[in-house]
Amino acid sequence: TDISELLLSRIRDVPDYPEPGVVFKDITPLLADPGAFAALTEALAGLCLKHGATKVVGLEARGFILGAPAAVRAGLGFVPVRKAGKLPGATLSQRYDLEYGTAEIEVHAEDLGPDDRVMVIDDVLATGGTAEASLGLIRRVGAQVAGVAVLMELGFLDGRARLAPVLDGAPLEALLQV
Ligand code: IMP
Repeated sequence: TDISELLLSRIRDVPDYPEPGVVFKDITPLLADPGAFAALTEALAGLCLKHGATKVVGLEARGFILGAPAAVRAGLGFVPVRKAGKLPGATLSQRYDLEYGTAEIEVHAEDLGPDDRVMVIDDVLATGGTAEASLGLIRRVGAQVAGVAVLMELGFLDGRARLAPVLDGAPLEALLQV
């Protein structure tokens, strides 16, 4: 479709970043193009409304850049999921495995509750580990999952299969498939 071509044309492939053999999908050209950024924001906001979200959770850091304007556009609140140690209030935290070692993410417990239906937004779904951990946080805080929406899904890493159990029927929406 038109929007897919526009978005795809503004994503840059960076070979051997952050390490040899990896092709990094760089969205900064898209952010710098006001028409493409607006189209992306509109599309993500539409997905939030389509799936009945009441809050947007953005994953640090590019999920903040995409999720915050989408939340405003959709008339929803925004809740950041941050790397451990950045949030000052009472948090829930979740540890998860990376290729080498582990990572930990946190959310302010008071920002989400049982009445919330949450759409998780990030730029890229790779292995799905980050999104899986964030869904764990959302479930533990007692909120409902409206879905996960990403700009780009790297299909060859099979994050979709990893997310399926924790999505428990909620949609995974990807505007672009690679
Ligand atoms: P995952 O946990 O393996 O799915 O990795 C997803 C996280 O890493 C997301 O927060 C992405 O922002 C980031 N990420 C992984 N690969 C890329 C990429 O090629 N471009 C931009 N971000 C990426």
